[in-house]
Amino acid sequence: MADSNCIFCAIAEGRIPATIVHQDADVVAFKDIAPQAPVHLVLVPREHFAGLNELTPDRARLVGRIALVAKELAEAQGCAANGWRLVSNCGPDAGQTVFHLHFHVLGGRPMAGKMV
Ligand code: IMP
Repeated sequence: MADSNCIFCAIAEGRIPATIVHQDADVVAFKDIAPQAPVHLVLVPREHFAGLNELTPDRARLVGRIALVAKELAEAQGCAANGWRLVSNCGPDAGQTVFHLHFHVLGGRPMAGKMV
């Protein structure tokens, strides 16, 4: 179920533009509009829910699907060998700004010792 006020639902449904790098029945991935690394992708489930606090057993398979797509995209973007991160910010203290579950794929620069 989509939320008509959610920007990531709008991207997943093609209602607003984004640079889509992957889409399937469950998952959409696109380039982050304000990249924090040379490779910075955002992966979202098509289903709208706010974040990891709303994860349920029924939704758990989506996280596995997203992790698999993330690995494939890290390989395709050329950062798999040197290393990359899969990050989901959950809630205000974590810095979450868009309340539709999403994971960041970050790569293409050294990040050791830094959280972001
Ligand atoms: P958060 O801070 O973990 O919630 O991450 C939200 C991310 O979405 C940020 O890195 C934003 O730059 C990114 N973002 C927000 N709006 C758009 C958009 O329209 N297209 C692509 N990325 C976006």
